[in-house]
Amino acid sequence: MRIVIRSLAVSLLAGWLVACSEPPKEPEVVVYTSRKDHLIRPVFDLYTKETGVKVRYTTDDDGALITRLAAEGSNSPADLLITVDAGNLWQAAEQGLFQPVSSEVLSANVPANLRDSENRWFGQTVRARTLVYNTQRVAPEELSTYEALAEPQWKGRLCLRTSKKVYNQSLVATLIERHGEEQAEQIVRGWVENLATDVFSNDTALMEAIAAGQCDVGIVNTYYLGRLITDKPDLPLALFWANQGTSGVHINISGIGLTRHAPHSEEAIRLMEWMSTELPQRVLAEQNLEYPVNPAVSPTGLVTGWGEFQGDDLNVSVAGSRQVQAVKLMDRAGYR
Ligand code: FE
Repeated sequence: MRIVIRSLAVSLLAGWLVACSEPPKEPEVVVYTSRKDHLIRPVFDLYTKETGVKVRYTTDDDGALITRLAAEGSNSPADLLITVDAGNLWQAAEQGLFQPVSSEVLSANVPANLRDSENRWFGQTVRARTLVYNTQRVAPEELSTYEALAEPQWKGRLCLRTSKKVYNQSLVATLIERHGEEQAEQIVRGWVENLATDVFSNDTALMEAIAAGQCDVGIVNTYYLGRLITDKPDLPLALFWANQGTSGVHINISGIGLTRHAPHSEEAIRLMEWMSTELPQRVLAEQNLEYPVNPAVSPTGLVTGWGEFQGDDLNVSVAGSRQVQAVKLMDRAGYR
């Protein structure tokens, strides 16, 4: 009798466990992203439509997401981190927040200089940081390189965004890589001497100052020009591809990495791979007027009107490995 009761208890317990265990979950991937909701949602919606896999995502600033991921550790629900700027991806990798992904799809679709050499992060879109000038005050023949903006002919004519922005830290990091620290510092000092006014908090305000004649030339990410020109097509602004025939235009990426403790790593890798293929590449680039990282996919719309350019072929990880050096250098040079 005792045996019967015991086996009854066991089977009741087993039944109770089955009833309490959750129903099989829909497949899903969890993403932390510093890309704004309206830029990223169309791509995730497309993925869910194609595969049935749900993408849950949280948007915040790069720094906040990296801090959060580090604090959550192995309890983090996040599978993937998407940030802008290779400097941020490099920082996340340095903190051990990613795990390497060896994927033939990603190796084929993402050029080697736009991904981590240890496969911890991969570029998704390319952004170009180049020169924008006032078409009424500058002839394009006067322009050539970032370095030349340090020449005396630009005294009182240059506008720059703050050195606190990672985009400029990345640009200066590549100058250090190319020229060495001493020469890079001379270039940055030359820029500071040529400033028409205080540094700007963002690229759009900087271009509005150029359009208003407060200064003649500046350095910006091209998608900001695209947005501004779409809003105000009559502004006397044009883009100039810097350093053609020398080091190429300074490029950077937005990119993605698989988190160290990803709860759904297989699904997450599938999403990463899919995002490097044609349709999502086009949608991703188009949303923010950027360039697809996959060289087999052409940019579309307004961006094609800017023509082709030679981009810098340095590995973008330089933005991270020389970031501290760049920040110190800009401080020494008086670039605020
Ligand atoms: Fe931006």
